[in-house]
Amino acid sequence: MKRPVAAPKTTFANGTASIAVMAAVMAAVMAAVVFAALTLASCSASNSAATAADGRKTIVVTYSILGSLVQDLAGDQFRVVTLIPNGLDVHEWEPSAKDIETLNHADLVVENGLNLEGGMGKALSQARAAGLKFFTASDYIAVRHVAAGEGIPSGDPDQALGAADPHIWTNPENMKAIVDALAPVLQKDFGSTLADGGAGLASRREALDQKLDALDAQIRAEVATLPSASRKLVTGHESLGYFAQHYGFKLIGAVIPSISTEAESSAADLADLDKLIAANGVKVIFTELGTPPATVKALADQAKVRTVTLITHYLPPDGSYFTFERNLATAIITGLRS
Ligand SMILES: [Zn+2]
Repeated sequence: MKRPVAAPKTTFANGTASIAVMAAVMAAVMAAVVFAALTLASCSASNSAATAADGRKTIVVTYSILGSLVQDLAGDQFRVVTLIPNGLDVHEWEPSAKDIETLNHADLVVENGLNLEGGMGKALSQARAAGLKFFTASDYIAVRHVAAGEGIPSGDPDQALGAADPHIWTNPENMKAIVDALAPVLQKDFGSTLADGGAGLASRREALDQKLDALDAQIRAEVATLPSASRKLVTGHESLGYFAQHYGFKLIGAVIPSISTEAESSAADLADLDKLIAANGVKVIFTELGTPPATVKALADQAKVRTVTLITHYLPPDGSYFTFERNLATAIITGLRS
């Protein structure tokens, strides 16, 4: 796409401008804006036509963290579209009519499953019923279930003992299993549409596997520097179960004692958590997207502990899963050490 040329900067030697000159400048700027808008409109129209014509298959991924690895695997041989905008709450986000249209035009839908995409449940089941191809990432990992002593029992099915935990991406080993399961699906379903017959796909899979192994080893080495007595997690909601299980951390509790931010915490939940924090010598509460700030502040003040914000559900600016996971591990380890 050709970028519209920016309007030239107008400067005035004496720092002031007559109203007539300003009006002329404004008119020129407005003309440039209109021109840019028209150019962008024609660009996007020709882009979508080009996408349809270039023969690439479209993979629609529900959320950005999974989308990043799917993009790494797919390379530029597929068109990868992420539905839930990066930074918005994956548990709560609901698709617009336009998003549903995007979903319905997918050649393959890649979802997390385990009801992570709570707000998209209806759209996803309708797409499935309409016969769209689905790849459900959580089908390919060992699903973790809420264990005794985690969260606080209530009538909410998301926090019931035995509920399936959807936060699969916090363990890189899970993501490797997903890459290894998706690559053959792409090869089988679309290999004949790829100019290289799938050679690129196979080599990208191998490179990703190696990178994920290296990431895992790096985090293990970093965790090993933290005394095991310090490896205790209090989080915004029950989002770090897979991380904790994989790297040997104990889950003490969560501000929202649920695997979804869609739940809420009661006064009794918070009183129980306060007791758990004291009993376990916890010094930090990790907050995240969807954690109610006033509740956390009240709890932290009462328990006399620090709060550290973690990014647990969306990508950093470079859009990389690897940066995401390294940042997450480093923030947890640093937070618990100091
Ligand atoms: Zn979550």
